[in-house]
Amino acid sequence: AAEAGGGQHMFFDAAHNVQARERVLLETELRQAIQTGQLCLHYQPKVDVRSGRIVGAEALVRWSHPQRGLIPPGHFIPLAEESGLIGPLTDWVLHAACGSLRRWADAGLPELPLSVNLPASSLADERLLDQLAALMQRYRLRPSNLMLELTETMLMRDIGAAIGVLERLRDQGYGLALDDFGTGYSSLNYLKRLPVSELKIDRAFVIDVARGGRDGALAAAVITLGRELGLQVVAEGVETEEQSEFLRGRGCVLQQGYLHSRPVAQGEFEAMMRSQAAS
Ligand code: C2E
Ligand code: CA
Ligand code: CA
Ligand code: CA
Repeated sequence: AAEAGGGQHMFFDAAHNVQARERVLLETELRQAIQTGQLCLHYQPKVDVRSGRIVGAEALVRWSHPQRGLIPPGHFIPLAEESGLIGPLTDWVLHAACGSLRRWADAGLPELPLSVNLPASSLADERLLDQLAALMQRYRLRPSNLMLELTETMLMRDIGAAIGVLERLRDQGYGLALDDFGTGYSSLNYLKRLPVSELKIDRAFVIDVARGGRDGALAAAVITLGRELGLQVVAEGVETEEQSEFLRGRGCVLQQGYLHSRPVAQGEFEAMMRSQAAS
């Protein structure tokens, strides 16, 4: 950058500048979005393939931007994590998820656990347990209505502290899921010590599953491992019948993925639950 004589450096600096300004703009907009209700949750059903019925759902945040349209979380969660907006964003997500659970209960819809993704920073936040307890009271819910999804990468940052927090959450009755399972490193060593109730097999293992490749073998091994540890095993990103059948044949009957349903807006999800309740 010091050698401003080089055209290339100039170019990179300019590009970098645009990027930096874009970031600041996006950050300002995201802060406003959280305050002005531009975020929304979509819901992806978790299906038991034996019955074809919805047995749970995962809440996935979206940003409904007035000019840019619906922005997926991959585009703003990392920014939120770097800019300190992840706290308010997570507060919003938890409120919205609990508000939906209350609304469904009031509408007489069957009780289904709702999974919520927690960011890496959340386990280090001492307010988490109090915050959740306040939400349970405010929305008149039981902790078993919520399933908290955590990734192994975030748990491995400080495994000792993480286990302590997880044990307290489990003792309160919250469901705990290990998300993106198989993508981290030290999972097998720690899996036995982690007080989680559910393993979510990452989509990467599901993709090649029916082709008889190594991933098929790995997915099968993870399913067996999870089952032997007494955990509920859920496959993510199931897109084809072939994948679904392979997983089912290995005992993984709980599945999420486009084959069963894409994540859908609240109204659509409620219609799905209503039509299921009627049948
Ligand atoms: P994730 O928790 O692993 O969520 C699964 C992602 O896979 C979702 O993407 C979902 O739409 C997508 N998906 C589901 N089924 C299929 C399929 O069959 N094929 C394919 N190709 N994709 C499928 P999405 O909604 O874009 O979310 C991406 C990530 O953003 C999530 O990954 C999660 O890590 C994060 N995220 C989403 N919502 C929240 C939130 O409220 N808070 C936090 N902290 N992170 C969130
Ligand atoms: Ca997840
Ligand atoms: Ca996942
Ligand atoms: Ca993922």
